[in-house]
Amino acid sequence: MPKYDYDLFVIGAGSGGVRAARLAAMSGAKVGIAEEHRVGGTCVIRGCVPKKFMVYASEFSSHFKAAEGFGWSRTEASFDWPAFIRAKDIEIARLSGIYVTNLQNAGADLVHARAELRDAHTIALGDRDRTYSVGKVLIATGGRPTRPPIPGVELSITSNEAFHLPQLPKSILIVGGGYIALEFAGIFAGLGVATTVIYRGANILRGFDNDVRSHLAAEMERRGITVILGCEHTRLEKTAGGVKSSLTNGHDLETEVVMYATGREPYTEGLGLETAGVALNERGAVAVDNYSKTNVANIWAVGDVTDRIALTPVAIREGAAFAETEFYGRPTAFDHEMVASAVFSQPPVGAVGLSEADARQKFGKVDIYRAVFRPMKVTFYGGQERMLMKLVVHPGTDRLLGCHIVGPDAPEMIQMAAIALKMGATKAQWDSTCAVHPTAAEELVTMREKYVPMEL
Ligand code: NDP
Repeated sequence: MPKYDYDLFVIGAGSGGVRAARLAAMSGAKVGIAEEHRVGGTCVIRGCVPKKFMVYASEFSSHFKAAEGFGWSRTEASFDWPAFIRAKDIEIARLSGIYVTNLQNAGADLVHARAELRDAHTIALGDRDRTYSVGKVLIATGGRPTRPPIPGVELSITSNEAFHLPQLPKSILIVGGGYIALEFAGIFAGLGVATTVIYRGANILRGFDNDVRSHLAAEMERRGITVILGCEHTRLEKTAGGVKSSLTNGHDLETEVVMYATGREPYTEGLGLETAGVALNERGAVAVDNYSKTNVANIWAVGDVTDRIALTPVAIREGAAFAETEFYGRPTAFDHEMVASAVFSQPPVGAVGLSEADARQKFGKVDIYRAVFRPMKVTFYGGQERMLMKLVVHPGTDRLLGCHIVGPDAPEMIQMAAIALKMGATKAQWDSTCAVHPTAAEELVTMREKYVPMEL
């Protein structure tokens, strides 16, 4: 008789949970995985993947504009939001289906139910009238959008609803200056929606390099997005045509839709974590060590519920490292250093490593290499959009500390740049790489002159 009903039970079939469950099941372990919504989690169902489809859809308007400069005659283009949403939902269903098939092929037992720990080794599944004994437990429940308690905030939507709006609004006010706010601002503006972003701080994208932040804000404004800084809501009220926003800058703004993108919180509620004795950290996330282990000997947690770096590939690597450690006898801790990320704003951002400000704080002096230019495609059609590329270099060792790009294809470029930075490349090694011509990316390996800002 096996000691437990399941060697491993995973709560949450998102990116991290599914990877861990599959790998563990492929080792021969008896694995169960519960999902209360749809398999695939935030990334596949209401995050990265449908967002990227929306970005693609919204970019056509700027492509149409550029096309004229390349000799195409003006064609009347119109956008059918319901048709796009239908196509998007079909593709998301297909991808979710692949996740289900992969779990089944690996031999994991997928349970469409809510799971709750009754103690560290006992789990209840939905309304089933029995509980299950489990050897190891992995919490991978992700996060949920959070909104501040402002009067009328319930009149706003979050990213969850933005994926299913019955029709495209004529105007939208987006609150926040992070990934989600800026990505949706680009999407809605590209689709022809009058778009305003309000952000409470002095500049958008806190945590990113300051040049990236100002460059992106300026480029977004160039594309017709109104960015209001140092501004918050005092209240929201329903009107005949939508929502009236009363703002701290003393102005009122009426838009058809208000969307809050003010961060996400770890989803820890109602999982029985307290009953099982699992400790949370000061941010309300499950507290884990480098091996994603909680304070309870047989319980681990990966992904956004641990609030380390809230990115899909990080959750996947944490899930894989857990499975390697616990089911293949190869202790593996995912290294959270030098994780690249991209903001799919328009223009998009790619960044890896330290910002100039963080590098100066850490090392005192740093060398900066910087290029701001109009890509050749833009100059050809007479556009004004500019691209930013920036390298932060340690002067003593010549090691690359950070790479920051704003402009077309920045997310694709940063993936490659991240390999060099993760390997610890020096600027001299980077520069010894021959350029690929004609590309925008060649600027990255041809920045010879150190940049000296005016104020230094
Ligand atoms: P972010 O943390 O990126 O941004 C939240 C924004 O909301 C910040 O600008 C923050 O301001 C602001 N904010 C927070 N609280 C308030 C408040 N009470 N009033 C007004 N503004 C407020 O969160 P997101 O929701 O955009 O995304 C969550 C996470 O998901 C990201 O951090 C990222 O890790 C991940 N993600 C990644 C994507 C990608 O890889 N492309 C895409 C989407 C999400 P302040 O800066 O002042 O704190």
